[in-house]
Amino acid sequence: LLTCLYVDEGVLREMSERAASELGLRDATLLRSEAFIDGRWLKADGGGSFGVDNPATGALLGSVPNMGAGETERAILAANRALPAWRRRTAHERAAILQRWHDLILENQEDLARIITGEQGKSRSESRAEVRYAASFIEWFAEEAKRVYGDVIPTDIDGRVILAIKEPIGVTAAITPWNFPCAMITRKAAPALASGCTLVLKPAEATPYSALALAVLAERAGIPPGVFSVVTGAPAEIGKELTGNHLVRKLSFTGSTAVGKKLMAQSAGTMKKLSLELGGNAPFIVFDDADVEDAVRGTINSKFRNCGQTCVCTNRILVQDGIYERFLSELSIAVGQLRVGAGIENEQVDLGPLINIAAVEKVEAHIADAVAKGAKVVRGGHRHSAGGSFFEPTIISGATSEMLIAQEETFGPVAALFRFKTEAEAIEMANDTRYGLASYFYSQNLNRTWRVLAALEFGMVGVNESLISTTVAPFGGIKESGIGREGSKYGIDEFLEIKYACIGGL
Ligand code: NAD
Repeated sequence: LLTCLYVDEGVLREMSERAASELGLRDATLLRSEAFIDGRWLKADGGGSFGVDNPATGALLGSVPNMGAGETERAILAANRALPAWRRRTAHERAAILQRWHDLILENQEDLARIITGEQGKSRSESRAEVRYAASFIEWFAEEAKRVYGDVIPTDIDGRVILAIKEPIGVTAAITPWNFPCAMITRKAAPALASGCTLVLKPAEATPYSALALAVLAERAGIPPGVFSVVTGAPAEIGKELTGNHLVRKLSFTGSTAVGKKLMAQSAGTMKKLSLELGGNAPFIVFDDADVEDAVRGTINSKFRNCGQTCVCTNRILVQDGIYERFLSELSIAVGQLRVGAGIENEQVDLGPLINIAAVEKVEAHIADAVAKGAKVVRGGHRHSAGGSFFEPTIISGATSEMLIAQEETFGPVAALFRFKTEAEAIEMANDTRYGLASYFYSQNLNRTWRVLAALEFGMVGVNESLISTTVAPFGGIKESGIGREGSKYGIDEFLEIKYACIGGL
């Protein structure tokens, strides 16, 4: 729930200056306390704002406008006004502007990383990597839009030419989560803007500063007013306007499956095109013939990155009988080396805090449920001595399919090990979920690799590899993990329509 604050402009400015200095920003003007609509920095109509916390300290960093339907509608109208001129520009012209945005993001990498760490909690090295990842989508799609080819289709009736022409879909909207406060925005904004669409963004309420900093740089790059607006505030109210307004032709959402379903239902009235990047429940299968050292390294990366708060995070580690004990003991040593702490103060940490206390409580509930149903905590299992929302990196052994941890995303630093005997059993366990985002398996056997790859019902499969997200590959899920793909050559199609033209009488 957003806590509404009513503070005057002087206090707001003072707060954001204090936050910028607390985060150690070189360029304090990147930290904005206003939203960005139609090229202007604005407060909410009613003057209300909501607080943004630093999860590492629990202290208030600052506040941003608590906007609603009215401001959102104005952002949509501005996007609609900006659309004709923006889509008329050549892809090369749009790419030149986007390239400047990309360059500015990289030039401000350190400040953006500090903002991410400050409002989201991940380590600074992870935040820097996110900034580079975020920038890479802009460069990629700026180039990709130059290759939005159509088709000339051989006619079946003499005297006709048949064309398939790709066009930008129009005004688009994006709603993004807090776990990747920069990259989830550019993964949507870049293909939208590169292809000639305009975009209204609602970032997550926990991490609006990263979104607003991106808007500062978009403005500096010369992205015209209305082409990219950022509305902060009440999720349901803004969401209703974005989904209900007929001017918005497409919604791209990343977040939980529950909210994704709600937005899909709300979009039905205006028949919007949808991209939904939703939750996952990734299996990570370690077969007897795996390189165990490699699999342990992969587990650490996949499970503990961003403190376990990524949608492609391993949630269920399925380990074959023959190497179960060896894998568990090597994993335990590796987990014992993970350093927990606040990324702003200390460069040398691997895990930051969880996003908030509710996330800590979910992790605790999953652990308690697993223990009650017979699992054993091998390492960790408690809130970390650093306090607040820090949690110990945890390993659970003897997990089974009835446990909550097997059925839902834990979204925390808990590695749950499940034991299996045969390949068929592993595949059945892996697919036994309503989600279908990422999956991983480790094996050195070529025949098994192909068999398992074909049998896994997921949008993405990492084989002997656990860090699979990259700009150049199609990211997305099946089943209740969503619809559509982001990144890669496929990502731009989400923002295009195909117009069929039949030219007759030749
Ligand atoms: P969330 O669904 O609670 O929130 C996501 C966004 O939706 C936020 O901006 C939030 O303000 C907004 N929102 C919430 N209720 C809304 C409503 N009624 N109408 C309109 N907007 C609303 O998810 P979260 O906790 O921010 O993010 C974590 C979830 O996101 C996890 O489930 C994770 O797996 C998923 N995720 C998926 C991907 C992917 O690419 N598949 C990537 C990152 C995160």
